[in-house]
Amino acid sequence: MKKELTPFWETKKLSELSHEEWEALCDGCGLCCLHRLQDEEDDDAPILTTRVVCRNYDLQNCQCANYAQRHTIVPECTPLTPKRTGEFHWLPQTCAYRLIHARLPLPSWHPLISGTQASVVPHGIIPLDPVLETEDIDLEEYLL
Ligand code: SF4
Repeated sequence: MKKELTPFWETKKLSELSHEEWEALCDGCGLCCLHRLQDEEDDDAPILTTRVVCRNYDLQNCQCANYAQRHTIVPECTPLTPKRTGEFHWLPQTCAYRLIHARLPLPSWHPLISGTQASVVPHGIIPLDPVLETEDIDLEEYLL
């Protein structure tokens, strides 16, 4: 009799994931690529999300236009690493890294469960009508 293996995201902590497992956890929703605003002088101030998306985002294909070089092209792009899990509160509540860090299950629409990237679309940035970042854009005009 074949024994069903428990999926890695149910058994491992974020710090125990391989590079491939870490990358597979990202559902590609793009919500972390939206610009956020917070009062610079108050770390406890609420983090406000806008519908302005990173200038390196490819709205046509709904993904980072150059994922491998993203930190070079956009120096302010925040690296998501296992060592920074304590800072993940700014990520959307549906983000797999946030969910696994909090020991919560992945949603049924996550590609690792649904088997298709298409199930993410209603939960990603497209329904938010995202606007591509430009040099002179006023983020405050695009608060969600
Ligand atoms: S919010 Fe989380 S799951 Fe969505 S694209 Fe960003 S890292 Fe991936």
